[in-house]
Amino acid sequence: MAVRPAYFRDVSDSQWNDWKWQQANRIRHLDVLERVLVLTEDERQAVVQASAKFAMAITPYYASLMDAEDPTCPVRRQAVPVMAELEVAASELEDPLAEDSHMPVPNLTHRYPDRALLYATHNCPVYCRHCNRKRKVGDPTSAPKRDELTEAIDYVRRTPAIRDVLVSGGDPLTMADQRLVAVLSDLRSIPHLEIIRIATRNPVTLPMRITPELTAQLQKFHPLFVNTHFNHEKECTEEAGRALTTLADAGCVVGNQMVLLKGVNDDPHMVRRMNQWLLKHRCRPYYIFQCDSVEGASHFRTPVESGVNIIKALRGWTSGLAVPHYVVDLPNGGGKVPVQPMYLTSHDGTQMKFVNYAGEAYTYEEGAASPAES
Ligand code: SF4
Repeated sequence: MAVRPAYFRDVSDSQWNDWKWQQANRIRHLDVLERVLVLTEDERQAVVQASAKFAMAITPYYASLMDAEDPTCPVRRQAVPVMAELEVAASELEDPLAEDSHMPVPNLTHRYPDRALLYATHNCPVYCRHCNRKRKVGDPTSAPKRDELTEAIDYVRRTPAIRDVLVSGGDPLTMADQRLVAVLSDLRSIPHLEIIRIATRNPVTLPMRITPELTAQLQKFHPLFVNTHFNHEKECTEEAGRALTTLADAGCVVGNQMVLLKGVNDDPHMVRRMNQWLLKHRCRPYYIFQCDSVEGASHFRTPVESGVNIIKALRGWTSGLAVPHYVVDLPNGGGKVPVQPMYLTSHDGTQMKFVNYAGEAYTYEEGAASPAES
């Protein structure tokens, strides 16, 4: 159970556990943040300067997971601006995945043949400092308009190749139930659309959003996949666990997409513990993303080797279910490519030499292909 900072001591339990109260009372300005955390001079300056470029918002719940005294706290680093955000490396891009240049209509990216990405809102409970959509997330002037969402859904309707839509944003669960249900109903009425996915960080940053009323609605739209974004075991609270199991009880297939961040989660042992906790709460670790080349995120980016080392520390050492795909999402819209430790050390004719997870060498002899295989 998260421990409330003293600043929120007088808040009643019913307010604290009400997602609308949490959303309405997000920390957005320096004067409140300073009363919750002991800020460094760098953080204090960045709350004013960096957040003018990319808004700051922190739910009281997420703030309660932070170490008030320690600026290296992994939860704090994800949500409190630092001045390094203002440094833009030559290789960094405003839109690193070229999502905006693959938009046939506003608010919908159609890059891969059979799936599309719908931006339902640009609001989130917490604005993650590593967000690869900071160019528009948190900016109310760029929020999708109702008729633009209708146009985007109409595009899906007239494009039979699309069998999978990812409803993202921003965070679609920041929308009121009624509005979200309207979007999901419109999508579900499209006969060729097989699956709907929702990308949401609410189980992490605002777990009280996962109410029985919400899940009663969500279960009308199966098959529905929910992908969330846990990055550190400090986020694995009782409240977060309850949010995940509530989604799973409602029949949602729940997965986690971790973003690899230097000094936050580049520790293989921590990732193993977190992934095991996720599985216990019926959430399957799905991806580890290399931090995208988005502007102002150099301080978060690790060498690719760090991700490979995490997979090495998982594969064979724990359930295969706890081993996600480690991927680099290539800049300029190249798409995701998996990166793996090298287990195949040589391939000579029919003889393949491997090292296993423990570093032991084995030889596998390929059989002659049967007539059916040739
Ligand atoms: S919840 Fe997702 S979209 Fe919102 S700020 Fe975080 S990473 Fe970006």
